[in-house]
Amino acid sequence: MKKKDVLCTGKAKSVYYTDDDKKLILHFRNDTSAFDGEKIEKLARKGEVNNKFNAFIMQKLEEAGIPTHFEELISDEESLVKKLDMFPIECVVRNIAAGSLCKRLGVEEGIEVSPPIFEFFLKDDALHDPMINEYHIQSFGWAKPEDVVAMQELTFKVNTVLKKLFADCGLLLVDYKLEFGRFGDQIVLGDEFTPDGCRLWDAETRKKLDKDRFRQGLGGVVEAYEEVASRLGVKLS
Ligand code: ADP
Ligand code: UDP
Repeated sequence: MKKKDVLCTGKAKSVYYTDDDKKLILHFRNDTSAFDGEKIEKLARKGEVNNKFNAFIMQKLEEAGIPTHFEELISDEESLVKKLDMFPIECVVRNIAAGSLCKRLGVEEGIEVSPPIFEFFLKDDALHDPMINEYHIQSFGWAKPEDVVAMQELTFKVNTVLKKLFADCGLLLVDYKLEFGRFGDQIVLGDEFTPDGCRLWDAETRKKLDKDRFRQGLGGVVEAYEEVASRLGVKLS
């Protein structure tokens, strides 16, 4: 597979065309950003850890019947994926209150929410990713009603699979963000599932093992990601 021109350079990943017009290469860089790109740092090994973490999770999701863009690992920091026509939407599920939910509603961090809460956000850094609902999505044509239903169903299915996967290694899946795209007539999970885009706490101590360590300046960011990877059995070099 030949790597060709860059398609886009995001805050943490770069995306490249390949000689197959249906496939892309995702390069997980060491760059780490928070607060819509206001806080940026390079963290050694993060690209490799996230690339391999993402490959492991995407394979688990495929095994559970969730279509994903993941094809194969091609280097320590790169994966081959299907080229999707991405929806400009972020799908968030929350099992425990944290982050923007606490700020917005004044609820205490750590409260278990039942049933889990589903939220849509518009993917737009300049607007600080505002929260939107099904009406905004339909009225502005960001996705069709049936795509909205598919994204919600798949996002909840991911919750069932991953809550158990993490619980089995002593971790709480607090919340996470997914991005979907269209591949032909199929709705497929794209982007990444790594500790950059979810919250994971140790089930006993509630120690934060995700990007909140970076957002809140707690230190030990990549070490925390590596601890989660090691508990899951993700092979790192
Ligand atoms: P951001 O866009 O938040 O800065 P990244 O640095 O992760 O994030 O950039 C990766 C970009 O690649 C995102 O815009 C994401 O939507 C896009 N992307 C992820 N997977 C695919 C895919 N399979 N096909 C097309 N685009 C993708
Ligand atoms: N999230 C993300 N990218 C975003 C916004 C949120 O990956 O642009 C993830 C975040 O890591 C968390 C979940 O989505 O796991 C919910 O995030 P929240 O709305 O609480 O926003 P935050 O205040 O963390 O940005």
